[in-house]
Amino acid sequence: MSVTLFNTLTRTKETISGSPVKIYSCGPTVYNYAHIGNFRSYIFADILNRTLRLAGYPVLHAMNLTDVDDKTIKGAIELTQKNPGKYADLKEALHAYTAPYTEAFFADLKKLNIIPFDLHPRATDFIPAMLDLVERLIQAGIAYEQDGSVYYRIAEKKDYGKLSRVDLDKNKTGTRYNTDEYDKDDVRDFVLWKAEGKDGVHWHSDHGDGRPGWHLECSAMIHEIFKGPIDIHTGGVDLIFPHHENEIAQSEAAYGGEFVKHWAHCEHLLVDNRKMSKSAGNFFTLRDLLEQGKKPEVLRYFLLSAHYSQKINFTSDALDMAAASVDKFFSLMNRLGRTAKNQADVSPVLAAASEKARQNFLAELADDLNTPRALAVVHEYMREANAFIDTAKENLAAGDHTTILETLRFFDKLLGIIDLMPQAGVSAELQALLDERNQARAAKDFKRADALRDQLLKAGYKILDTKTGSHLEKV
Ligand code: AMP
Ligand code: ZN
Repeated sequence: MSVTLFNTLTRTKETISGSPVKIYSCGPTVYNYAHIGNFRSYIFADILNRTLRLAGYPVLHAMNLTDVDDKTIKGAIELTQKNPGKYADLKEALHAYTAPYTEAFFADLKKLNIIPFDLHPRATDFIPAMLDLVERLIQAGIAYEQDGSVYYRIAEKKDYGKLSRVDLDKNKTGTRYNTDEYDKDDVRDFVLWKAEGKDGVHWHSDHGDGRPGWHLECSAMIHEIFKGPIDIHTGGVDLIFPHHENEIAQSEAAYGGEFVKHWAHCEHLLVDNRKMSKSAGNFFTLRDLLEQGKKPEVLRYFLLSAHYSQKINFTSDALDMAAASVDKFFSLMNRLGRTAKNQADVSPVLAAASEKARQNFLAELADDLNTPRALAVVHEYMREANAFIDTAKENLAAGDHTTILETLRFFDKLLGIIDLMPQAGVSAELQALLDERNQARAAKDFKRADALRDQLLKAGYKILDTKTGSHLEKV
């Protein structure tokens, strides 16, 4: 099935193509724990990835890690001040500073059951490619050096502003911006390579010691990884200007031709109608929420309940509603686990309704990732399935049981919550057997592991090994 997606560049919905579909998603700046506003944009990337796979597209997906920029450098300087003499230089301190946040980011991705991205380019591993990009821009007459820094002369790019449609009359031509972030009202030449003294975080270059500007990083990494134009580039709406505008300007001027076919941006997660952000101090990290007893599957469901192009307010009521829906889904899974199975004839009506629900679910997603409407299909199906089990008095034909289970699993290819489902109705004794079997397997004692598996089977449970661990399911 073809998937359509709104393209920020053309402001229209367009059909996605590509084999594989090459996607680059702007990832975290690893200067702190990511907050759940950030995770809205990573879950958006996950929804896109899962939808394309469900629709049959092969996907090659990269998400970068920004481990050198104004914020990470500030952190590295503070770390050295707190630990005088500990690090050989600031670059070493930079790695020491970003490493734990990088690790935490991967742990959070796993907790939220985000399908692992294929590639995670790290900015500091791509400095030669960034310097090559700077040289290309100088050769093309677009970049100029001043006091050891190199800037992009935006007046040289005739279509600068085509993505953000920024008001170029406000362009302060010839004046420069040295920081990585600035406002739409402040269109200026931006920094590609920043001069740094010997004491700063720096790499050697023909322009003296310095370090890359943030915008340069993504352009160079995309070129280095994909060796040509990509199909989709994602990020939050706050990245449209200046970050993505500058990526286009750099890549098109340096490498020629088209850079990105399709720009996809997700709206912000709000708190009290304001963007959740570190600077506003109104943020929650995933750890904060888990400590409060919130569940990752509920957060996933909550983020799917709004279309990515709409702002969404993070409130406890909205989370409660998501929790109720997740409960309904898990209850139906558990109910299925308890139903007796017999050899009675399967129901063609159920089979047809299930097939229709799958098709509708996919069609909603394929239409610009319409997750709220896809969730409505799930709800309707859960109602039908529960009614069917009521009518069958908890006594299903084995084929009908499979039909419902497979349909829920199909929905879960997007929802990604079954892996996070708590064990229901499993006694401590059975859980202990499962734990022992997992330990035996980890120790490569397969004979013991198999014996324990058989013991569990005799007790009426089969083992489901999933990415997030092993679960017991009633046979
Ligand atoms: P940063 O680490 O600040 O570079 O942000 C990483 C990603 O999170 C970017 O794609 C941002 O657009 C996105 N982002 C930041 N805050 C929010 C928010 N409140 N809602 C949705 N996405 C956000
Ligand atoms: Zn980026």
